[in-house]
Amino acid sequence: MRTICCVCHRTKGANGWVKQFISQNKTISHGYCPQCFQVTMKKIQDEIFQDRGRMS
Ligand SMILES: [Zn+2]
Repeated sequence: MRTICCVCHRTKGANGWVKQFISQNKTISHGYCPQCFQVTMKKIQDEIFQDRGRMS
């Protein structure tokens, strides 16, 4: 099974995350590469912070 980043569409290979075509026949697992994971986490944290600001 290959893991593909749902943000930048890079796939996890032996040498790290690379842009690579994957056959549709292969089983693909969607996830986040380390870079997009950090960006997404920061976005979520910012949104939580903003929600807290609105509530108080
Ligand atoms: Zn990514």
